[in-house]
Amino acid sequence: MARVVIVGGGITGLAAAHRIHRDHPDVEVVVLEAGERPGGLVSTTPFDGLAVDAAADAFLARVPEAVALCTELGIADQLVHPAVGSALVLSGGVLRRLPGGLVLGVPTDLEALEASGIVSPAGVARARMDLEGRGAPFGGDVSVGELVRTRLGDEVMDALVAPLLGGVNAGDADALSVAAGAPQLAAVADAPSLIAALRAEASAAAGSAPTPVFAGFPTGTATLVDALVGALDPASVRTGSPVTGITATVGGGFSIEVAAADTLTAEAVIVAAPAHATASLVAGLDTGLGGVADGLATLEWASVAMVTLAVNTDDLDHPLDASGYLVPVAERATVTAVSFASTKWAHLHRPGRAVLRVSAGHAGDASPLDLDDESLVAAVCTDLASQLGLRGRPAGWRVNRWRDALPQYRPGHLERAAAWQRDTWAAHPGVWLTGASFAGLGLPACVRQGNEAARRVGDHLSR
Ligand SMILES: Cc1cc2nc3c(=O)[nH]c(=O)nc-3n(C[C@H](O)[C@H](O)[C@H](O)COP(=O)(O)OP(=O)(O)OC[C@H]3O[C@@H](n4cnc5c(N)ncnc54)[C@H](O)[C@@H]3O)c2cc1C
Repeated sequence: MARVVIVGGGITGLAAAHRIHRDHPDVEVVVLEAGERPGGLVSTTPFDGLAVDAAADAFLARVPEAVALCTELGIADQLVHPAVGSALVLSGGVLRRLPGGLVLGVPTDLEALEASGIVSPAGVARARMDLEGRGAPFGGDVSVGELVRTRLGDEVMDALVAPLLGGVNAGDADALSVAAGAPQLAAVADAPSLIAALRAEASAAAGSAPTPVFAGFPTGTATLVDALVGALDPASVRTGSPVTGITATVGGGFSIEVAAADTLTAEAVIVAAPAHATASLVAGLDTGLGGVADGLATLEWASVAMVTLAVNTDDLDHPLDASGYLVPVAERATVTAVSFASTKWAHLHRPGRAVLRVSAGHAGDASPLDLDDESLVAAVCTDLASQLGLRGRPAGWRVNRWRDALPQYRPGHLERAAAWQRDTWAAHPGVWLTGASFAGLGLPACVRQGNEAARRVGDHLSR
C-alpha cells in the first residue's frame, strides 16, 4: 500500500488528506502535526459558556471550495450566516458606518461614500475622477496601494481599503500584492475605470439570487476540523509529531523524521506547514533547493493577538448594532479590529451580555503579543473605553496569541510561490509544498490548495 505523509494538520493539510483518502482508498494517508491538536490556526474553545472561535470565525461562502467540502462531509446543513451585514470604521476617533457598495474597501456608490462622512468632499471628488476612465493597464501584479492610490486617491486608500484589506492580512495594504491578497480587485485592475468595472460586475450578478457572503458554524469553525479528522482513518492524524527532516531514499521514495526519533517512509510528501517551517525542511531535502528555502524563509509574517471579552451591555455606551469595526493605523490604537461577535452571530447572542473579539498586532508590530495577558487586556480596554464607552473591567476575558500566522504577500508573490512549488517538485517528484504561504489565505483558498495538492500527488502515485 502506497503511503502519503502530510506535514501539518491545518486546514490545508487536512483537506488534502481527506481528498486523497476519498479518491485513493488504496493509499495510506498519515498527517503529522507538530501541535497537540489538529486544525492549526482554526480553533474553537469554550468561553463564557459558549463555543467561541479563537481565530477564524467565518469563511467566504461565495468562494465555493469550503462550502463544497462541508457538503461532502455532511455538515453543510449546520452552516449559519452573520445576522448583520453592516460594519463600522473608526474615523477621527468616531465610529462611522461603512457605506454600501464597497468591494474590498473600494467604493462603487459615491453618493453613499459622501454621505458616510468617512472621506472628505475633496476625497470623494478625487475618487470620482476614476470614472473618467483614464486608467492605464499595469500589465502585471502591483501593490494594492499603487492600484488604489493611482485610481481613486489617498483618502479612499487610507480610510477604507487599508483598514479593510490590512485587517484581513494584519498587514500593510500599501505593500500587499493585488493578485495574491485582493483577487476581486486583480480581475479589474487593468480596466480604464476600477469603479465602472466593479459596477459592471455587480450588475452582471444582480440577476442571480443573492447569496450570503460569509458562513460559519454555531459550534465554531473547529466543526470543520473535527469533521475532516472524523472522515479519516482513526490513526491517520498524529499530533505532537513535529517533522524535523525529509530525505529522498534510494528507491525513489522519502524518509520523514519526526522529532521523537520516529521515522516514516512514504511514496509522496505534502508539506502544508507555514513557509518559515517548510524552509528548513526544503533546505535539508536537497542542497540544490537553497534558492527555494531562502525564498520561503524571507516571506514576512504578521503576528496577531485575539482578545475575547465578555461584557455586560450595561457597561457599554455603544448599541453594538453592526458586525464590528476596523481601526485604521492613523488612529494610533492598540486594537486593529473589533468584532461584535454576539451581534454578528445569533447563536452567541444573550440579553444583557456581549462577546467582543478584539484583534491587536500587525505586520511590523508584534508588541501587543509581548505584553502579559493582564497588560494586554488593560490596553485593549483603554481603547474600548474611548471607542465604545466601555466602563470598568470586562466580566471575562481570554487571550490567544497567533505568532507568525499571516503571510504578507508582496507583488509577484503568486509567481514566486508557484516557482518554489515547481522547482521542488522537479527536483523531487512527489514532494508538493502548499498552504496559506503559497496561493492565498482564508479557509476556501486553503481547501482549494489542499485539493490541488491531493490531485497532484494522486496523479503521481497512479502513474
Ligand atoms: C487571528 C486570525 C483570524 C483569522 N480569521 C479568518 C477568518 O475569519 N476566515 C478565514 O477564512 N480565515 C481566517 N484566518 C486565516 C486562516 O485561518 C488561515 O489562512 C488558514 O487556517 C491557514 O491554514 P493552513 O493549513 O495553510 O496553515 P496552518 O493553520 O498554519 O497549519 C499549518 C500546520 O502545520 C503545523 N506545523 C508547522 N511546522 C510543522 C512541522 N515541522 N511538522 C509538523 N507540523 C508542522 C502547524 O502546527 C500547523 O498546525 C485567520 C487567521 C488568523 C491568525
